[in-house]
Amino acid sequence: MIRLYCATGNRGKLREFRMASEPRPSGSGLPLVEIDVLPGFAALPPAVESGATFEENAILKARHYGPHAPGLLFADDSGLEVDALGGAPGVYSARFSGPHATDQANNRLLLEKLRGVENRAARFVCVIALVEGERLRGVYRGAVEGAILDAPRGSHGFGYDPLFYFPPFGCTFGEAADERKFSVSHRGQALLAMLAALTKPRP
Ligand code: IMP
Repeated sequence: MIRLYCATGNRGKLREFRMASEPRPSGSGLPLVEIDVLPGFAALPPAVESGATFEENAILKARHYGPHAPGLLFADDSGLEVDALGGAPGVYSARFSGPHATDQANNRLLLEKLRGVENRAARFVCVIALVEGERLRGVYRGAVEGAILDAPRGSHGFGYDPLFYFPPFGCTFGEAADERKFSVSHRGQALLAMLAALTKPRP
């Protein structure tokens, strides 16, 4: 069993990360992990997300919190890229509608910006950085393609999920159960890539 500390205050993300702790069918080759929030996370000064890419921000966050963890720690940076908006909100997804943004305000702003726009193509991206202290152990990326609807559907998940239509499911991520979303999501992909790397011998 490998214990991993996670640096996030986002309960939606944490719920999804913890799905990686659930028992997998034997033969998956992936290690059993226990994922805990970094003790004292909320009391630490927040990392400044000044990077221009998901990779930069994930590494920045992991290196900021890593020295406070008693073992391996990971942090993610994730967001929504909308083609018709030139990839926005991207790394600004959480703060799209301002510094005190809520999911509802962000979703409203996204709908406003896409009113009358035909091209609805979008993707969720998640990048996870894994560190031991300040030493970077790896960076793992996942992405999932979908389309932005013109009204929210469903109350599962968090963030932009109710607007994100995933064609293979025929519904939004907001309408999909958490486990179903995790099986295809950007976060699920990045997390499983990290677990797979943990099974490999260390350089
Ligand atoms: P971060 O904490 O800087 O990584 O911000 C991520 C933001 O991107 C979240 O607050 C959401 O607005 C959005 N986001 C990332 N992943 C998801 C997802 O799985 N569903 C919905 N929104 C997401």
